[in-house]
Amino acid sequence: MVTAENLAPVLQVDRLSYYIPLWRGYLVRQPAGALRILDSTSFELYSGEMLVLVGESGSGKSSLAKTILHLASPGFGRVMYRGQDLAQLRGESLRAVRRKLQLVFQDARAALNPIMPAREVLAEALAPGERIRPNERILELAELVEFSPALLSCTPGALSDEQCRRLGLARALAAEPEVIVYDAPVRPDADQAGLGMLRLLRSLQSSLSLSCLFLDRSPSPAYRYADRVGVMYAGRLIELAPQEELSRHPLHPYSQALLAATPGIRGLPGDKVLRLPGESPRPGNLPGGCRFHPRCRYVQPVCLEADAEWRQASPGHWVACHMV
Ligand code: SF4
Repeated sequence: MVTAENLAPVLQVDRLSYYIPLWRGYLVRQPAGALRILDSTSFELYSGEMLVLVGESGSGKSSLAKTILHLASPGFGRVMYRGQDLAQLRGESLRAVRRKLQLVFQDARAALNPIMPAREVLAEALAPGERIRPNERILELAELVEFSPALLSCTPGALSDEQCRRLGLARALAAEPEVIVYDAPVRPDADQAGLGMLRLLRSLQSSLSLSCLFLDRSPSPAYRYADRVGVMYAGRLIELAPQEELSRHPLHPYSQALLAATPGIRGLPGDKVLRLPGESPRPGNLPGGCRFHPRCRYVQPVCLEADAEWRQASPGHWVACHMV
């Protein structure tokens, strides 16, 4: 297991936000606010670490992934890779860093060219120095992700969702990245699918010197393979801690409810399900103050007035809650 404290961060995400501006009027467009998709999210990813961020659909995980890779422009905040601010990079230096940071998209099938056979998908992604002997490297990549060589002639339409995800991962690995951002799909068997990919990535980490940011809907897989786990709610990271610490001492009321409802996670008070009233707010109707306050049983007047600061409650355990 990686201990975060004694390693340098590969990636630093600092108060990252992503807003979609809204406009009104047809002839004369005027600003009409913004959809807050991602707000003030900060964390570091350490070398060799498996960091799993969990959050339900709409919590901002996919936007976080795209914003980290600058596939969506951050409205505020910054992303640093090995001390370099991605926003300051241009041209070849930006392309070089992008090869080191690879995203496996949530919809892996849609991210593949529908008429391109798997072999060509991988050939196209190979690092320039490897194009001299592409077949050897393509077979090696297929083996790494447990993708049958017999499927290399297939187009995505002939592959299962699982095979498309493995192909997407192989394509990401072809660039010899240092960081993999894996955006797990939202689907009914998410636990099983997430578990399989987490296991695979975990097994690849030491041999390929990979750091992984794994974004998943369900906390269950995280507890087998994560070094640290973070919880996202309504577009914000609200808690982050080493896996064991978070499973035993979740501090944020939403984390407590989420983990209490997750089978197989030990150490929660009474092991009982804490039911939350209402639903998570959408980006267009976030409540003022703490965005969790309409559902929180510990809500206080201050929670309605201001969002909570992201702060370290104990060494390595971060949370955004006024009452912690
Ligand atoms: S800041 Fe207040 S409303 Fe928000 S989670 Fe903490 S106690 Fe609940």
